[in-house]
Amino acid sequence: MRPLVLSPLFAALTSLPGIGPKLDKLYARLLGREAPRVIDLLLHLPAGVIDRRARPKLNEVQPGQVVTVAVTVEEHRGPPPNRSRAPYRVLVSDDTGTLTLTFFHARKDFIEKLLPIGETRYVSGTAEFYDGMLQMVHPDRVVDEKGFADLPLVEPVYPLTEGLALGNVRRAMDGALARLPALPEWQDDAWLSRERFPAFTDALAQLHRPTAPGDIDPGSLAWTRLAYDELLAGQLALALVRAHMRRQSGRGTASEGLLRARVLKALPYALTHSQQKAVDEIVNDLALPQRMLRLLQGDVGSGKTVVALAAAASVIEAGRQAAMMAPTEILARQHLKTIAPLAEAAGIRVAILTGRERGGERKAILDRLTLGDIDLLIGTHALFQDDVAFHDLALAVVDEQHRFGVHQRLALTQKGEAVDVLVLTATPIPRTLVLTYFGDMDVSELREKPAGRQPIDTRTIPLSRIDEVEDAVARAIAAGQRAYWVCPLVEESEKIDLAAAQERHAELKKRFGAKADLVHGQMKGSEKDAAMARFSSGQSQLLVATTVIEDGVDVPEATIMLIEHAERFGLAQLHQLRGRIGRGTGASTCLLLYKAPLGETAKARLAILRETEDGFRIAEEDLKLRGEGDVLGTRQSGLPGFHVARVEAHGKYLGAARDDAALVLARDPSLETPRGEALRHLLYLFGKDEAIKLIRAG
Ligand code: ADP
Ligand code: MG
Repeated sequence: MRPLVLSPLFAALTSLPGIGPKLDKLYARLLGREAPRVIDLLLHLPAGVIDRRARPKLNEVQPGQVVTVAVTVEEHRGPPPNRSRAPYRVLVSDDTGTLTLTFFHARKDFIEKLLPIGETRYVSGTAEFYDGMLQMVHPDRVVDEKGFADLPLVEPVYPLTEGLALGNVRRAMDGALARLPALPEWQDDAWLSRERFPAFTDALAQLHRPTAPGDIDPGSLAWTRLAYDELLAGQLALALVRAHMRRQSGRGTASEGLLRARVLKALPYALTHSQQKAVDEIVNDLALPQRMLRLLQGDVGSGKTVVALAAAASVIEAGRQAAMMAPTEILARQHLKTIAPLAEAAGIRVAILTGRERGGERKAILDRLTLGDIDLLIGTHALFQDDVAFHDLALAVVDEQHRFGVHQRLALTQKGEAVDVLVLTATPIPRTLVLTYFGDMDVSELREKPAGRQPIDTRTIPLSRIDEVEDAVARAIAAGQRAYWVCPLVEESEKIDLAAAQERHAELKKRFGAKADLVHGQMKGSEKDAAMARFSSGQSQLLVATTVIEDGVDVPEATIMLIEHAERFGLAQLHQLRGRIGRGTGASTCLLLYKAPLGETAKARLAILRETEDGFRIAEEDLKLRGEGDVLGTRQSGLPGFHVARVEAHGKYLGAARDDAALVLARDPSLETPRGEALRHLLYLFGKDEAIKLIRAG
């Protein structure tokens, strides 16, 4: 149950004065969630300030500067009767000079009330010279003596969305701040005083009502306090998940390794050193009576799938089952394709379950699964639907973890008794972020590429040369090569992405006929498979695609990756896409077509890609260039990321937050002490309350 004291913060934003359904929609867009709540608004922090503290005399005013001046109102000059659209001007002065205030579309009675002749007013805004006269168009603020006493001279500026004005957000924020209840302190007292952190509510008030520009710096004490709160909430939630998983003490699944050996023998290649090491680490974990929680990190193409299969073989040999969950259907089928021949050679019974298996087919799979007639079930999130019941699930392999939420991970592991978990991630994640997103999981890394891989020749070419590039692709295709042609990503609009890809495909078809094929996210599963199969078999040689091919597609014969408008893609995404080639023995080329001129960041991004293929290095650089949300692709996948904490400014607090969380749970595993009770508030505030259920679930 959510603590009652938090209720005002979890009320709908529409409960604030002045916010109706129309504004609510805009706030939903701004805050990134349906039916936003007061707390969501409060955690929307300013991006800057308007500093009105400069108080010059009129003869000292610098054009373009935001100033607040004390003036006497001299004269009103309304528009002449025949030119009602002309501006309404008001002349004001102080003892050093005069200033014209200019209003367009102004109502006379309004202006007369605002600026009565002979009175003193405080006017704030940006002045410019116009016809040699100092003029201010639409002053931001006009107040009298009393109003001036209340005027915030430093005003926060918020990130906005179209249709929403700064004034709306400021007013709403005032309403939200007024709802802040007295909250118990959840941070350790000694830590608070050491760091000189203000209380949670004070920190919010300081950030939303700054008194100096530095107040809203992410490095400020107020911001850092909130960031630490957020990090601690995240670490605490992860620790609770972990404790929950570990509590059901695992079952050791020992095996002699015969089945594993059979799988490996069926491979047309030998494992790399790091693959072998990862297999050893996993097999060792599986045999232990504790639950395994291991992350297998490896760059694109580093060969994670066989490692996962070797792990699965170990539990299957012991008569138990394994599941492998992928984020997309294409990827699930790709896994099946890689695994099926190896499994067959070793005598492992494999099946696939996605949204496409329905009716009788689905029922047959589920029946065999329950009877234990399927050893390894590969699939998408369809795997954790309620009616999927395993005979004895021992190992859950989750590919591309960060696209799944914590509760989805749990749902799968709850389908067996003390299921061991192996998470595969193809996005190399910088170490600092592993901690943030995965907690203290054990990590295996695949840092070397399988032998025989050739380096990829990466080139950047302006889009203006696309005809030349197309000719080069045509020559390669005539010589029997296979190429991907990735169409631009237009943010937030799958439809436009799609149109671009379809148009390009139609055009290329004129030249290449049936050799040019198309695959995109809106296609039916069976159509996608068919297109992939044609490309994989060589029936088609040029595959026009949207970014659906980003995930795990493996056609070793493909040697060319062309990306249109590469400047619109993230570094990690480009790296993932490039990873689709260079998998076979042929020399591969990646062509990054960009629209000139390039901005600084885009230039740096493309330069890094030319320079290196090391995914870990690329991920680090990406982090420097962009910020953590993008590295992990969380913005696209909608996983709740961080609102407040920034890796650059607050990453150094991660370790402390993790230790803090571990210590709290060691002393107070059910969060029942006063601090534990207070920490429950924190978990709710940062949307981590899902984890609280795990306390009771035992
Ligand atoms: P990823 O880590 O991106 O999931 P995959 O598991 O899809 O990589 O492997 C990429 C390709 O490399 C596959 O075609 C796979 O058969 C091949 N592969 C994996 N391990 C090796 C190896 N040790 N030597 C040669 N090829 C390998
Ligand atoms: Mg993979």
